[in-house]
Amino acid sequence: MDFIDKWLHIIRNCSFDNTYKMAWGKAITEIAVEYDEKVALEDTSLIEIQLRDIAKKVLRYYFEQTMFFDLQQSSNPVKPPVVITIAKNLIVDYQALSGSVKPVKWFRSNIESVCSAEYEKSVSATVKALKTDVSYRFLRVEGREVDGVYQYEKKADSLFIRNDSLLVLKANRLIVLDAINYRWTQMLENFNHSPRLSKKVKIIDEDQVLRKPLGKYAVYLEVENPEFHCFLCGSKIEAETPAIDHVIPWSYLYSDDVWNLVYAHQSCNSSKSNMIPSEEMIQRLEERNVVLLQRMNEQGKLDKHVSELELAIESNLVRKFWIACQG
Ligand SMILES: [Zn+2]
Repeated sequence: MDFIDKWLHIIRNCSFDNTYKMAWGKAITEIAVEYDEKVALEDTSLIEIQLRDIAKKVLRYYFEQTMFFDLQQSSNPVKPPVVITIAKNLIVDYQALSGSVKPVKWFRSNIESVCSAEYEKSVSATVKALKTDVSYRFLRVEGREVDGVYQYEKKADSLFIRNDSLLVLKANRLIVLDAINYRWTQMLENFNHSPRLSKKVKIIDEDQVLRKPLGKYAVYLEVENPEFHCFLCGSKIEAETPAIDHVIPWSYLYSDDVWNLVYAHQSCNSSKSNMIPSEEMIQRLEERNVVLLQRMNEQGKLDKHVSELELAIESNLVRKFWIACQG
């Protein structure tokens, strides 16, 4: 087997009780992508990679996946993997120091300077966890050691990988990163019931998360709610632009659907953030949707959003997703 075959073999066949190995493999692949190829491909000399550099990337993946979607990364929700706890604590510190609970991409968070002490501590703790749980285990597949991938002495602070291996990894990055994301998604399917997991995994590959403006849904919402009553508190929205709110949290659905959108006060909207709605609220949404569809039909509106609304009512989507998002 050549290097890429071995690397893909590990990704496809490794055992797992959490997603660490995928984070580890992805971090090393990204390091290969950033590797400066001034050396010839034939050069087989060993290149040193610091576990610290791997840890920074691993921490970023879990920081983002947790902050945006709060994904379970192992089978035991009561005792999550150490790095998840580290990421969660870092998120809490970040939110306290930045004064915002809005999910944010790592590179936009400026986390290294916003909470430098906590960040440094988190990186060191992640290195420790990787040493104990991942660095050498990654190379064991189906009870056998895969040779010739990288050299690692137990407890060391760095590993060694051949120059030509790094270059081959870099050249094959597209197929390798797809394989890692696919397997990571498969693992998450064992621990999570939320929809769009593959899209959620990919969030760590995107520079920014484009939350599409919801303004285009106003023409639908107005049909049922022309006086702009706030769905959350019931009173009229006056002297401000109504916010458009996801009743079932966006972080769960990762999608904008007219059957899940309502008008709300800016303040009511931001104070509720990602809370799971009450049953009373779900019932009101179901009733709203029936009336909304009726009004749309009366007005002869017929497009993709109307048929999605109709389908959502027929297949009871609001109730189903509400039950599912409670875990
Ligand atoms: Zn309100």
